[in-house]
Amino acid sequence: MAKELIIHPSKCIGCSSCVLTCSITYHNEFSKSKSHISIQKNDFEGIFQICFKSTCLKCCKCGEVCPTDCLRVSNL
Ligand code: SF4
Ligand code: SF4
Repeated sequence: MAKELIIHPSKCIGCSSCVLTCSITYHNEFSKSKSHISIQKNDFEGIFQICFKSTCLKCCKCGEVCPTDCLRVSNL
């Protein structure tokens, strides 16, 4: 079944579970730089920004580990 990610950036707590899950899945190591998703803190606004790289495979594995439903997996 096809899936998509529903994204609620305001719920992000910056835990990086999504980032590390992506890198261990596709590069077999915990590496923020090798992940297809990055989390950056916007200190001015006090929020986290979620950025998907163009290499993202849209597999939704990152959403399966997000503890806050910031990334939520939805079946199409
Ligand atoms: S959807 Fe898949 S490939 Fe894209 S960032 Fe999430 S885990 Fe990585
Ligand atoms: S797993 Fe969810 S809460 Fe944690 S950094 Fe990623 S998007 Fe934010």
